[in-house]
Formats: sequence, structure tokens, C-alpha cells
Amino acid sequence: MFHFTDEQRMIQEMVGRLAKERITPFVEEADRAGHSLPQVVKILAENDLLKLGLPENYGGIGADYTTIALVVEELAKVDASTAMTLFVTQSLIQILKEAGSEEQKERFFNQMSSGDKINAFSLTEPNHGSESASIQTKAVLNGDHYIINGTKIFVTNGPIADLILLFVRTGEGERQKGLSALVVEKGTPGFSVGKHEDKMGLRGSDISELIFEDALVPRENLLGQPGDGWKILISGGADMRSYGPGAMATGLACGAMDYAVSYAQQRVQFGRPLANLQAVRFMIADMCIQVEAARALLYRTTALMDAGDSDMSLRSRLVSATKCFASDVAMRVTTDAVQILGGYGVMKDYPVERMMRDAKMIQIFDGSNQIQRVIVARSLLST
Ligand SMILES: Cc1cc2nc3c(=O)[nH]c(=O)nc-3n(C[C@H](O)[C@H](O)[C@H](O)COP(=O)(O)OP(=O)(O)OC[C@H]3O[C@@H](n4cnc5c(N)ncnc54)[C@H](O)[C@@H]3O)c2cc1C
Repeated sequence: MFHFTDEQRMIQEMVGRLAKERITPFVEEADRAGHSLPQVVKILAENDLLKLGLPENYGGIGADYTTIALVVEELAKVDASTAMTLFVTQSLIQILKEAGSEEQKERFFNQMSSGDKINAFSLTEPNHGSESASIQTKAVLNGDHYIINGTKIFVTNGPIADLILLFVRTGEGERQKGLSALVVEKGTPGFSVGKHEDKMGLRGSDISELIFEDALVPRENLLGQPGDGWKILISGGADMRSYGPGAMATGLACGAMDYAVSYAQQRVQFGRPLANLQAVRFMIADMCIQVEAARALLYRTTALMDAGDSDMSLRSRLVSATKCFASDVAMRVTTDAVQILGGYGVMKDYPVERMMRDAKMIQIFDGSNQIQRVIVARSLLST
């Protein structure tokens, strides 16, 4: 059973209102434009949401996983793209808290304390998506710097990120054993942003290639020891799937359900509102059952993470189950929302059209739902 504190409820209510009143006016424009809008990033910054997870002495509120999930959920009810920009930014903060040295925390948290910094998480490469243990971007130590060569793709926030968590091969061994993680700062010599992708959904968030050509990253930006990359990826990196796509999908599904409910009450056919037809009522009931189940799983998972539960197998199982279940729910619920709106549902004048496109993306990124099922099964079967 999960329980929200008074502070969490206050933040939830504040962000819900902010999203409805201040972000809604930009959602359609960003979707059409195919990239994030600086005005929206500014709203997040002005309301201290980008630095949510920072410790208090750096100007944040040290938000735990549950609080971040609540914020992501509320934003996603209105705009999943904005939720995406925010949770990816939080992920570097959470990972630094766990894997960063005191010197790294101080240096990077100080940079983020202005509250307007955007972060990115870069793993995927052209030939290595689900098979992330085989990434090829190389980092070779030369004196005080790593020299990095390679190309990353599909990096959310790539074009606007100030700090990027980059997974590289430093070569301590084969596959997982040779991976390391380091922080790359905007303006690093030899680092540039490549192609900006034009995608089906989540069009109000940015996604691009990142290109490293003899890029020089200071040695002190390496997290942990050389070879610790996989450990960081499957702990802090995996945790993101709960407060990130898990919360985002739950909010998106809820937003689509709310819209369909209100539409069904107003749209009259055969002399009565759609909401009086049993076929429609059952679709709405099924939406609600699925959204509540996703929400229950999400907050059970973040509560377990916040409690620091030491059962890592359970944690990884719940995190993957949350991402997988919530995004499958978002896909079904947004598809049914479109169905309830009929012809209007597929028109761009109505938000459920965008929501259905956004939902499809969540089944794919941050480890596809097939990969999440592989992880859940492995944690139960131990093979
Ligand atoms: C909107 C969006 C945002 C993204 N943001 C980021 C980001 O910020 N940082 C980043 O590093 N990456 C990001 N990605 C990349 C994303 O994580 C990958 O697309 C995803 O992991 C799948 O990899 P792939 O696209 O190469 O597909 P592939 O690995 O080629 O898989 C293709 C299909 O095969 C299935 N499949 C593959 N292997 C298995 C298996 N072992 N068992 C069962 N099925 C399998 C997959 O489920 C999928 O359906 C993003 C992608 C999208 C779409």
C-alpha cells in the first residue's frame, strides 16, 4: 500500500495545475514543430522542476523517486513530451547521487543548481539498441583525458542537453565488462550534435545523434571505476524506467481517459450521450481499471526503491514490470480513447490523436517491452 506525504500531494497538485494552465497552450505547437519549445523548458525551469532531485544545499528539494514519478505523471496527463524532457534530466541527478564521487556531485550539482540545465542519457548506437552490452563507442585514456570516438543515436534531449551521461567502451573486457560511464559537458571539443530525428510521437521532445570525433573528456568525469558502466546501467539506469516511462505512460493513459470520459458525456448520438451506451461505458470502465492498476504498480515500485529495499532481483522485476505494463496500458487506453471519439479521434484538432502516437513510443524506448519481459522472466527463473 502506498501513501503520499502532504508535501508530495502539494507538489502533485501544483504541477497538475501548472501543466493544465501553462503548458497546455504550447502542446499542439510543439507537436507540429517536432521539437521542444524553449518557452516550455523555461516554465519547467522557473518552477524549479528541472532541479527537483538536487539535494537542498544545491537548490533542489532532494525529491525521492515517488515525488519525481508524481511530477512526471502530472505533466504527462497534459503532455508526455514535456514529461520526457523532465525525467531524463532527473535521471542524471539520481545516478550521480548513487554513483558519483563527492567531487563530481559538487561540480555537476553546482552547474545544475541554476535550475535551467537539461541532461541526457546516451547509450543507443546505430548497430546496438537492445543489445546494449555490445556498444562500440570507444574511450581511450590519454594522460588526463579520455579520447572518445563513436556515434550515438536516438538521444532524448540530445540537441539541448548541457550534461550527458555517456556509456562507452573502455575495454577492460568483453561486452558488459568493458563498459564505462562518464559525463560529457556541452562544448566539449570534438563533440557535436548530429541529425535531429523527425519522429511519430513525443514530437515535443528532442531526439538526435551525438557525434564524438576525438572528443576530449576529462578523466575526472568518469563515474566510479573503469568497467563500472554496466553496473551503473542496470542499477540507476534501470531505475529510471519506473519514474520515467512508467510514470509517463500512467499519466498519458489517465489524460486520454479523462478526455474520453468528458467527450462521451457531451457527444449525443441516437438522442442520448455516448456515455449512456453500455458498449462505451464498458470501454471507460476498462480504461479506469487499467490506469488504476498501472498506478498501483508504479507507486509500489517507487515506494520499494525509496525504502532502499535490498532485494535487487525484486527491484529490477518491479521496475521492468512497471515500464512494460504501464506503457501497454497507455497504448490500449489511448487507442480506445480514439475509438470513443470516432472520426474526431483521428483528427489533429483533438489531443487523443497525439496521445496514441506518444503511447507507441513508450513501448519502445528505454528498453523495448520485449526486453522488459526478458528481464522479468530472468529474475523469476534465474536464467
Ligand atoms: C522516443 C525514443 C527515445 C529514446 N531515447 C533514448 C535515449 O535518451 N537514450 C538512448 O540511449 N536511447 C534512446 N532511445 C533508444 C531506445 O532505447 C531503443 O530504440 C530501444 O532500446 C530499442 O532498440 P532498437 O531501436 O535498436 O531496436 P532493436 O534492438 O533493433 O529491436 C527491434 C525489435 O526487436 C525486439 N528485440 C530485440 N532483441 C530482443 C530480444 N532479445 N528478445 C525479444 N525481442 C527482442 C525489440 O523488442 C524490438 O521490437 C530512444 C528511442 C525512442 C524511440
